[in-house]
Amino acid sequence: MKYFAAIFFAIASPFFATAQLMQVKETFTRADSLRGNLTPARTCYDINYYHLDVKLDVSKRFISGSNLFSFTATQDFQLLQFDLFDNLKVEKVEYNGQSLSFKREFNAVFVTFPSVIRKGSRENFTVFYSGYPTVAKNAPWDGGIMFSKDENGKSWVVTACQGVGASIWWPNKDHQADEVDSMLISVTVPPGLQDVSNGRLRKVSDVGKGWKKYDWFVSNPINNYCVALNIGDYTHWSDVYQGEKGPLTLDYWVLKANREKAQKQFGENVKPMLKAFEHWFGPYPFYEDGYKLVETPHLGMEHQSAVAYGNKFRNGYMGRDLSETGWGLKWDFIIVHESGHEWFGNNITSKDLADMWIHESFTNYSESLFIESLYGKQAGQEYVNGTRGSIQNDRPIIGTYNVNKEGSGDMYYKGGTS
Ligand SMILES: [Zn+2]
Repeated sequence: MKYFAAIFFAIASPFFATAQLMQVKETFTRADSLRGNLTPARTCYDINYYHLDVKLDVSKRFISGSNLFSFTATQDFQLLQFDLFDNLKVEKVEYNGQSLSFKREFNAVFVTFPSVIRKGSRENFTVFYSGYPTVAKNAPWDGGIMFSKDENGKSWVVTACQGVGASIWWPNKDHQADEVDSMLISVTVPPGLQDVSNGRLRKVSDVGKGWKKYDWFVSNPINNYCVALNIGDYTHWSDVYQGEKGPLTLDYWVLKANREKAQKQFGENVKPMLKAFEHWFGPYPFYEDGYKLVETPHLGMEHQSAVAYGNKFRNGYMGRDLSETGWGLKWDFIIVHESGHEWFGNNITSKDLADMWIHESFTNYSESLFIESLYGKQAGQEYVNGTRGSIQNDRPIIGTYNVNKEGSGDMYYKGGTS
């Protein structure tokens, strides 16, 4: 996502490295620096593996659990930084059976080890935490956990935290310069709900009173903001795409009421998209983790191997053609754009938030290449020329600029078709 945010910032703001991407800030706070800077307390360790193990009490909007950090020391050190928003409580930090002392400063947590950790050694510690996580008000553009209901009144709870940072809901080394190599995501959910996270489902365990624990394993490096919870009363089906690296599993999770239209829309869009992108960019980067689309109550996000989809099974961008040429209505913008991020954003991730244009510009370009594959070079060119209108700001297609001039953080509802 961040399609419009990127355009907005490219024009309006050199001050990109803020904690909340949507806010234009002209000064930096100490909290911003702790979030954005690559300091020795962060470069001293290379994160290898996380085991995030959380329980979401949906009715209370309360999260609790732990994250195991397994890392390799890149230099001798005794103090490191991880990140967790300060509204969430760190209960303890455990290392080799003992509790470590830690100090919090805004959303950073500084942990001191009892002795020097030597360069090259591989160690781990576990952070136990709990609290009421930030509720996203306008996902996916602002961050946090979005609590929603489906049309049957069942809870529907998802995460979106690009920009603001994944530490808004789970403890991690929240900097794009270091991706974890693999990760186990364990999510315990209330009766009648399922969790769909990234990677492959390893097992589902009964943990009592109808609660279930879902273990998802991600075997590829993943950036923090792509790690996702999608909790709902989903229906699921599978398919296979015969891709450049062999069979790629496709798994789809949507609300039960939407199964039929989803099967049609996904059926029409996903394989042509994969064929086009594999042609232009090489194999889908995460065969081991499969490709998934997961329906969400927000518009969409490029969550790695579990792309969030909320485009209501319509072509275009919420039914609109961003290029105003006609080409934008021949395909589902969210399926194509968010999946394009699997190559540009997820496989290739910028080291610094200030360079997020790398994610967005190449993914926007992928849209026109997709059109070119299906309809020829002229069509792709017309689409590019058409979308240029939004860059030049002579056609505020979803109200991005207007809204911001008025000082609101609402990025699209005002000018768009919500
Ligand atoms: Zn995007």
